[in-house]
Amino acid sequence: MVRNVSVREQTQCRFCRRGEKYVDYKNVETLQKLLTNRGKMYSRKRSGNCAGCQRKVKRAIKRARFMALLPYCS
Ligand SMILES: [Zn+2]
Repeated sequence: MVRNVSVREQTQCRFCRRGEKYVDYKNVETLQKLLTNRGKMYSRKRSGNCAGCQRKVKRAIKRARFMALLPYCS
């Protein structure tokens, strides 16, 4: 996942930019972009998320795994 964005654009993460209050665990397509092909979650540095949103993503991914929407490992 290579992103060509300037430093100025990186000051806001993808979820803050969209103004989303929470990360939906049912939004599997978005969460899948934050996972490796082995099902591991990307680091904050890699995903570009801010601390708060990374935490929301973490909860969403764990919820989605419990609901069998995402794999624990593949
Ligand atoms: Zn954010």
